Amino acid sequence: MKETGIGTKCVQAGYTPENGGPRQIPIIQSTTFKYDTSEAMGRLFDLEDAGYFYTRLQNPTNDYVAAKIAAMEGGTAGMLTSSGQAANFFALFNICEAGDHIVSSSSIYGGTYNLIHVTMAKMGITATFVSPDATAEELDAAFQPNTKALFGESIANPALTVLDIETFAAAAHRHGVPLIIDNTFPTPVNFRPIEWGADIVTHSTTKYMDGHGAGVGGAIVDSGKFDWMAHKDKYPGLTTPDESYHGIVYAEKFGQEGAFITKATSQLMRDFGSIQSPQNAFYLNLGLESLHVRMPKHVENGQAVAEFLEAHDLVTQVSYSGLKSSPYYERAQKLMPNGGCGVVSFELSGGRSMAEKFMMNLKLAAIETHVADARTCCLNPATSTHRQMNDAELADAGIPAGMIRMSCGLEDKEDLIADLAQALEACR
Ligand SMILES: *Cc1c(COP(=O)(O)O)cnc(C)c1O
Repeated sequence: MKETGIGTKCVQAGYTPENGGPRQIPIIQSTTFKYDTSEAMGRLFDLEDAGYFYTRLQNPTNDYVAAKIAAMEGGTAGMLTSSGQAANFFALFNICEAGDHIVSSSSIYGGTYNLIHVTMAKMGITATFVSPDATAEELDAAFQPNTKALFGESIANPALTVLDIETFAAAAHRHGVPLIIDNTFPTPVNFRPIEWGADIVTHSTTKYMDGHGAGVGGAIVDSGKFDWMAHKDKYPGLTTPDESYHGIVYAEKFGQEGAFITKATSQLMRDFGSIQSPQNAFYLNLGLESLHVRMPKHVENGQAVAEFLEAHDLVTQVSYSGLKSSPYYERAQKLMPNGGCGVVSFELSGGRSMAEKFMMNLKLAAIETHVADARTCCLNPATSTHRQMNDAELADAGIPAGMIRMSCGLEDKEDLIADLAQALEACR
């Protein structure tokens, strides 16, 4: 059978029931797995046989769902993590250690910026931040001999910048490091980073993949395309013996396709234990089954809301890559011809106080610290996530006090627009 489309993968990839087996992915709610002999179990501990022995490392339910996400992204292997934060940490820490360096886009999720800039710095891993629009020369200047990864978000949360992935991929490969892309916002339904040169893809599955605000989770997918052995000195963790597993060499034993995820599972999951619960993986899979149906609706609503806002006299600025006025319009058309996501950010003419009044008057859109949910929600960073900053600091960070981030859900667009219209009128 020829390769199936993304929708078929959303519904069926990753799990094929056996004759008489459950049609739906079974929830294997078990911490442990039984073996007839210690020798059989020992072979699992030596990574000689594939199988399950303890859910902190691997669980069949999680693996079915991870295999689905890997298929959707066009990768060779995948794993679930307890959150998007854990996914990005594992993806980076799997190939970086004290003394190493990361180059990252500066336009990334605040939690990830904190992870890289503050927490990983405490582990001795430093970082240089570059614009998501950096030129080849600017990227080259950011690399150091100890740089081990280049990181960026395909569509950034919350700035909604669209990464110049082709320039980033070329720079990463010129310097012999993998490009890691957080693809949370467009999801593989709208954008597949591996097709544009990414080597590793990460997700906060908490967002559109789950899509219902039901479970926090993350995922990592390996493209299988990065040749670790060709950069043996740079990635000793993958290319030299792991003494904690009797001296196996991941890149030799599991090949280019499997080394990265096997190492992340058998070392980082073993030691940090950021596993997703099988129950949450089941909920995540329910979300994935309709992701290809939901994403076009999120985009349709995002586009309609962005166009409405852009034409409104109380709105001074709208960021949405589907608007012709967006500096990212052309790049988005090329990379994501079916649209990006349903998140729109905009600024009201009356600053912080008008933003507060506007949001208070919304009836359908709820005030929440969340995005990418079936229900429309919004947030004013100045009075919530960034409330420790004063107006001048906010302006410096590119987050004006009157800015609102709105995540358009799956309601009827006419109703969302009517809600926005009445809340704006209430601000006059
Ligand atoms: C939310 C988010 C994260 C963090 O994910 P959690 O599941 O909340 O840990 C990482 N990256 C992006 C782009 C996000 O939107």
